[in-house]
Amino acid sequence: MRIDIITCLPQLLESPFSDSILKRAQDKKIVEVVVHNLRAYSLDKHKSTDDYAFGGGAGMVMTIEPIHRCISFLKNERPYDEVIYMSPDGELLTQALANQLSLKKNLILLCGHYKGVDERVREHLITREISIGDYVLSGGELAAAVLSDAMIRLLPGVLNDESSALSDSFQDGLVAPPVYTRPAEFNGWKVPDVLLSGHEAKINEWRHQESVKRTEARRPKLL
Ligand code: SAH
Repeated sequence: MRIDIITCLPQLLESPFSDSILKRAQDKKIVEVVVHNLRAYSLDKHKSTDDYAFGGGAGMVMTIEPIHRCISFLKNERPYDEVIYMSPDGELLTQALANQLSLKKNLILLCGHYKGVDERVREHLITREISIGDYVLSGGELAAAVLSDAMIRLLPGVLNDESSALSDSFQDGLVAPPVYTRPAEFNGWKVPDVLLSGHEAKINEWRHQESVKRTEARRPKLL
C-alpha cells in the first residue's frame, strides 16, 4: 500500500510515522508513506498556499492551484484508488471504513488548514471526504495520521500477532473485553480467576461474555 499525504505543514506528520507500529510497517516495506509539502507546488514567489475568502469574512482559504498541481503530478506517476480530503463534515471514520480502505493500493490524503480548501477542490479533485469525528481540528494532519494508523495496522504482517487486530474493538461488532497482566494481585485487587485457569475454552467464553456486556453498556447501537 502507498499513502501520499499532501500538507502545507509536513513537519506535523514527522513523529506519527517515525515510531512503533507505523515505522515498522514502513521498514518492512508493507506500506510506503510519502508526505508532500504543498508549498513546493506553489508558483508564486512567497510559496503561499492560501488567500482571502471571496465575499469576505475571517479566515484564509487554501487555493486550488498548488493542490491541483500536486494531485496531477501524483496521478501522472500512478493510478490512485481514492483522493481523500480530510474534512469535519466528511463520512465518519469507522473500523468498517478503515478495513475497506486498507484493501486499497494507492491513496492520496489531502490535509486542509485555516477555513479549509476552495470548494472547487472538493467538487473536482476529490473522490471522497473523511472526518475523524464531529469536532473541528486546526488542520487535517492529525486526522490523516489517525486514518493512516487505523488502516496500516490492519495490513497483513504489520502487527506481530496477526490475530491481534481481529480481536480489537469493532472488528466483530463488539468492543474488546477487559485485559490484565502481572501481578495477579495488586493492592488486594485481583485478576478474574478464569484468566489464570489455563482453560482456553472457558477463557474464550468469559472474554466473549465480557465483550457483549461492555458493548451493551457502552455501544448498545452495535448490538
Ligand atoms: N471551516 C471548516 C473547518 C476547517 S478546519 C468547517 O467549519 O468545516 C481546517 C482543516 O482541518 C480542514 O480543512 C480539515 O482538513 C481538517 N479537519 C478539521 N477537523 C477535522 C475532522 N474532524 N476530521 C478530519 N479533518 C478535519
